[in-house]
Amino acid sequence: MKMPIYLDYAATTPVDERVAQAMLECLTREGNFGNPASRTHLYGWKAEEAVEDARNSLAELIQSDSREIVWTSGATEASNLAIKGALAYHTKSAPLHIITSEIEHKSVLDCCQFLQSLGHEVSYLKPPQDGVIRASQVEQALTDNTVLVSIMHVNNEIGTINDIAEIGNLCRDRGILFHVDAAQSVGKIPVNVSDLCVDLMSISAHKMYGPKGQGALYVRRHPDVNVVPQIHGGGHERGMRSGTLATHQIVGMGKAAGIAKLEQQADFEKYSQLRECFIAALNDLPDVFFNGSKSQSVPNIVNLSFAGVDGEALLTSLRELALSSGSACNSVSVESSYVLRAMGVADELAHSSLRISIGKPTTQEDMMIAAEKIMAAVTQLRQRSLKLSGSAPR
Ligand SMILES: *Cc1c(COP(=O)(O)O)cnc(C)c1O
Repeated sequence: MKMPIYLDYAATTPVDERVAQAMLECLTREGNFGNPASRTHLYGWKAEEAVEDARNSLAELIQSDSREIVWTSGATEASNLAIKGALAYHTKSAPLHIITSEIEHKSVLDCCQFLQSLGHEVSYLKPPQDGVIRASQVEQALTDNTVLVSIMHVNNEIGTINDIAEIGNLCRDRGILFHVDAAQSVGKIPVNVSDLCVDLMSISAHKMYGPKGQGALYVRRHPDVNVVPQIHGGGHERGMRSGTLATHQIVGMGKAAGIAKLEQQADFEKYSQLRECFIAALNDLPDVFFNGSKSQSVPNIVNLSFAGVDGEALLTSLRELALSSGSACNSVSVESSYVLRAMGVADELAHSSLRISIGKPTTQEDMMIAAEKIMAAVTQLRQRSLKLSGSAPR
């Protein structure tokens, strides 16, 4: 069977060939297979060296010190460590207050919900229509008990870039910890932890052509930020995250970071062009709504709603394309995207939305085929529903 055109790079990316090669060299008996924590022989020292090289590469990509990088199994674990670990560090037992947004990834939202179950208070900011979370909103939600603000850098569904530097400055002025889920920004746009004033930042390897199951948490050293470990045993990663380091995974993430440093600017320009061509190609299709911000977003994520078509039916007639819809199936029903609903997108339009996300292998031809297929499918579905409603007795 012919594989569909992959346009779901925001869900995950393939591992870059160069990354895969570097990873392969850390697995077998001939390779760098040692335990990085083994201090008594060359196998351990070599593995440790590879891990530290990777740490330096990632630190360089986000302009941090390598001692501020804590390896985790992904951005989900990084956010758990940041949010739950930061709250646990507070000895005050009075309910503490957290500010986050309604459009965060589930890994952040579920951590916040868990903390609510422990008696803490959480404010969920509702984005304006363009989906961009701004510092003024955060400022209005502050209370005397606010200890942590967690706002994502780039939204995974709509590609919007939130006002992170402004929010970071606000938090720094008030002495409030600032966590950022940067899974969709690191490796796509320049990220500088000093400019952004972040204290804690979650990163994922598999969103930037590295392996699944590897991530990192940036933990600021000046001023010193503390998190209580969520996984105990062995004291790895300066006690913040125990467990034998997965050398091949870490080397893969480091290699991916090094490649991103060199290529992200050119990739960004390519994606901008592809997005423009794609949107232009859909120009003749009426009643298409752009979800998000045209001026403040990454070019690799495009989210569109097609009025008058059912999202499920649309995906079914687009089998040659691999993309995400604005609906998520859970065990009982098809629910429209909570991100789109939070932005005030009507339920029907949220259901009829598609997320097209572009990646390194995407070509101009892929985008033209995608535009054609979408145009044909939407037109056909609209005609069909017209016929149905036309013949229905009223
Ligand atoms: C993918 C993603 C995550 C989860 O990352 P994992 O490494 O898969 O745990 C978190 N936040 C955002 C915004 C993401 O896109």
